[in-house]
Amino acid sequence: CGVYSDRTQAFNADTNALITIHAELNAAELLQAQALLKQGGHPLAGIPLVHKDLFCTHGVKTTCGSNMLAEFVPPYNATVVQKLSDQGMVSIGKANMDEFAMGSSNEHSAFGLVSNPWDLSRVPGGSSGGSAAAVAARMVPIATGTDTGGSIRQPAAFCGITGIKPSYGRVSRYGMVAFASSLDQGGVMAPSADDCGLVLSAMSGHDPLDSTSAQQPQFDWQKPKTPDSKGLKVGVVSAWIEDLQDEGIKQRTLEAIAQLQANGAELVEIDLPHADLAISAYYVLAPAECSSNLSRFDGVRFGHQTEHVTDLESLYRQSRSEGFGQEVQKRIMIGAWALSSGYYDAYYLKAQKVRRLISDDFKQAFSQVDVIACPVSPEVAFKHGDKSEGVSMYQADKFTIPASLAGLPCLSMPIGFTQGLPVGLQLIGNYFAEQSILSLADQYQ
Ligand code: GLN
Repeated sequence: CGVYSDRTQAFNADTNALITIHAELNAAELLQAQALLKQGGHPLAGIPLVHKDLFCTHGVKTTCGSNMLAEFVPPYNATVVQKLSDQGMVSIGKANMDEFAMGSSNEHSAFGLVSNPWDLSRVPGGSSGGSAAAVAARMVPIATGTDTGGSIRQPAAFCGITGIKPSYGRVSRYGMVAFASSLDQGGVMAPSADDCGLVLSAMSGHDPLDSTSAQQPQFDWQKPKTPDSKGLKVGVVSAWIEDLQDEGIKQRTLEAIAQLQANGAELVEIDLPHADLAISAYYVLAPAECSSNLSRFDGVRFGHQTEHVTDLESLYRQSRSEGFGQEVQKRIMIGAWALSSGYYDAYYLKAQKVRRLISDDFKQAFSQVDVIACPVSPEVAFKHGDKSEGVSMYQADKFTIPASLAGLPCLSMPIGFTQGLPVGLQLIGNYFAEQSILSLADQYQ
């Protein structure tokens, strides 16, 4: 941990990947790590990590990248945090993020933007951009993240690391500050699929404290014994690859898929006919859920309270106007509008129907294949400020959102570089088949 904390201090000045760096490590976590190390056979004991700053950490600030929660110190640990510290992992800080996990660039943080370690003038992706940058710069070997529409996979791709979003319900959301509850899912970012598998095994499992937690046995990662993927059927959506405007990403993607074939996988052409509607549906559903979830921040019970109060309404209005950044305010307004009585059927209900159609497309695809391989992002890490108007940033989520709407497990793994910047490949698996995508990524070489 000592080595990592020196590196962390040094690299944080360049990347701003962490909002909090612990001056002193948690004594209980260190004792737990020591005890487990003495027993032996605990692969995660003593391994340092950072948590995305929306996982509640007992006695440690949990800001969610927002002025609203700038001083919020939770009185309890998120289940994910507790489980990993029970395994002897030692937290060395909290990772920067887009405010309330809304964004794809980590430019929407009240604690400053994050830089990509591969090129400091570029974004690390988001919303788990701090987590990705911290792992890519080897400030820490493991980081937790969350993914609602791509927030683990896209920053993992931009920073050249591996990141997995498990099936919805695989990992408890208890103590994870909510953005869009039907989509939010905690996961892990690490240098390799093997690392991700180990940590995911430790952080998953049914949790009675989260009513949407799946009744599934704890995930138990088994590293494949052979390097080949013989007999595995890998689905490919050729239209998605042909549509890629960036020639470098297209080339890397085609080469990676050819490599999967060379490793023994059988390629099968599949069709996801409704996936083009995913962005439109997501940007109705996610804001709708966020407008409801974020109503709890009223300046009374949690977070920032304005000093300019004249009556109850001004307490709410001022506290929220001062506490939330622009992107969050925009989404709350879109969501409240989409849920309002005149528009509910036209937007919210329709988006829910589209969501079902997309899930059905995947069901159909998984009757033919074991895994789907596709791009993560149509572009490499872009320069800070290049996407300051929101819609072009939303459109870049087109490959990550479909699997999110369906609740499927998916990961991004590094497959090389173009223009000196990392490129990722997305692998999507069937429900609770995290083993299949992690194995395929582990065998990739
Ligand atoms: N970029 C997407 C958004 O802004 C996804 C964010 C996420 O997965 N948390 O909503």
